[in-house]
Amino acid sequence: MVTGLFSHSACLAHDTGDGHPECAERLQAVLARLEGEDFLYLDRREAPRATPEQIARIHPGDYVDHVLRAIPPRGLNYIDGDTVVSAGSGEAALRAAGAVCAAVDAVMQGELRNAFCAVRPPGHHAEPDQAMGFCLFNNVAIGAAHARAKWGVKRVAVVDFDVHHGNGTQAAFAADADLFYASTHQMPLYPGTGAAHDHGVAGNIVNVPLRPYAGSAEFRAAAERVLLPKLEGFAPELLLISAGFDAHVSDPLAQLQLGDQDYYWITERLVQVADKTARGRVVSALEGGYDLRALASASAAHVRALMLA
Ligand SMILES: [Zn+2]
Repeated sequence: MVTGLFSHSACLAHDTGDGHPECAERLQAVLARLEGEDFLYLDRREAPRATPEQIARIHPGDYVDHVLRAIPPRGLNYIDGDTVVSAGSGEAALRAAGAVCAAVDAVMQGELRNAFCAVRPPGHHAEPDQAMGFCLFNNVAIGAAHARAKWGVKRVAVVDFDVHHGNGTQAAFAADADLFYASTHQMPLYPGTGAAHDHGVAGNIVNVPLRPYAGSAEFRAAAERVLLPKLEGFAPELLLISAGFDAHVSDPLAQLQLGDQDYYWITERLVQVADKTARGRVVSALEGGYDLRALASASAAHVRALMLA
């Protein structure tokens, strides 16, 4: 079985304006790198639109209406200081969430071993009723809810190694003991959430904040000592990854100092846990990563580990 790559050209048409870090060139850089010969055997698939029913499992209908109504026929509209929409944003957001749901389907059906969704806008800051931090719909949370509703999976975990805390995913998961969210992130940093003392209703929230300028050794120790044992203890039947690459040493938005090899390493370790508890079922979705060269090389390391681990 092979690794899938889900994307859609509509994700390039989400225009955030000149100079915005969350730009279409990010996705172009990732996709161009994944055209290389190492990636010949990826099963490339076009992302469908998420259905209203899929989105409604996480976001109330009036929130979805509010986001879609904010989309202007031309030009830009600011939902908040960072979160910008343009004419193509609705279609991009539907394809981003739809990619994760389709990847879940393909992995649950046994068509694919695992999958990476190269999509934007990202999702992990989107709370059930609040767009923020470049995010409109919470792609991984929608995918987790879809796996439970369609496939009867009971326990779903999200591991988030983006440099920012995924406040939206934590908000969606904290009250449900069968959903697990674990994050490594820089603290202090936007959005300010992600304290180590947050535990959810049943120890199902695991936050491992890292100090600014922490590097490979601190990241790997946090994963080995806290994140991976707690994940394995939860024993997910499906593992989703919020794959942000902005903890890379070259990233302009934060100060952590990870390298490409750290992304290979954490991905390999996550696949090993999924092999033990989830029949290897892993679906990863792109979150942040704002240095184009680092984003391309780190995401390539991540996908290579999904293919080889
Ligand atoms: Zn981020």
